[in-house]
Amino acid sequence: MNLIDTHCHLTFDELAGDIDAVIERSRAAGVAEWITVGTDPQENRKAIQLSERFENIYAAVAIHPHEAKTVTAGTIQELKQLAQHEKVVAIGETGLDYHYDFSPREEQKKVFAEHLKIAAELNLPIIIHCREAFDETIEILEEYSSGIKKIVFHCFSGSAEQAKIVLDKGFYISFTGVVTFKNAEKTRLAASVVPLDRLMLETDCPYMSPEPMRRQKVNEPALLIHTAKFLAELKGMDLTDFVEAVTATSRAFFKIL
Ligand SMILES: [Zn+2]
Ligand SMILES: [Zn+2]
Repeated sequence: MNLIDTHCHLTFDELAGDIDAVIERSRAAGVAEWITVGTDPQENRKAIQLSERFENIYAAVAIHPHEAKTVTAGTIQELKQLAQHEKVVAIGETGLDYHYDFSPREEQKKVFAEHLKIAAELNLPIIIHCREAFDETIEILEEYSSGIKKIVFHCFSGSAEQAKIVLDKGFYISFTGVVTFKNAEKTRLAASVVPLDRLMLETDCPYMSPEPMRRQKVNEPALLIHTAKFLAELKGMDLTDFVEAVTATSRAFFKIL
């Protein structure tokens, strides 16, 4: 088994203090590569440091929409500089979160657009965080995404119809352990329409442990195997074939060879 956790937050306190053991348990579970995703200037720097320490940890850098209100010209400038580090494989996570509305929507949109410009300029894939803002996210992508080759909607929580819109635009979709939750029928219907050459897996840890480990308070990359098993079954596939396909998709997307 050779799974890639395409979206985790290994720099967050819940995991960072115990990182060697977290990585060891992950390897033992067949998850041997990780993309740790930054959410603010400090986390971006920490993500890069971690990627320098572990060969198979890669980094993505961005300012999360929750933090949009803190962004200055200097923040964007530093982001652009960090994004040029050799272990940075994507800009993310960026987008719109109208569920929490921690930052004013107009600022979220502006900061999202700035990220899209950087991704286009540096020829990097982009990881989208979209919560209760589907139409607006698509609108901004229509305006700014023409120079970006690879776009993924992470922790997809939309409907099958919305998944089809995303796929029609040539974008990718990534699922977390949420798809295993009892009340996630909508997400399962969405997953059933996504072909494996557009589908990726992630934990988004330390949040949201998948079933049957949902009670484990701190999620970690080792638990990705449960989401993989669940989706392989949903697709009526052998686990090994399923993992091989989604890992190939993830490698090509992030250019991890
Ligand atoms: Zn997110
Ligand atoms: Zn995340």
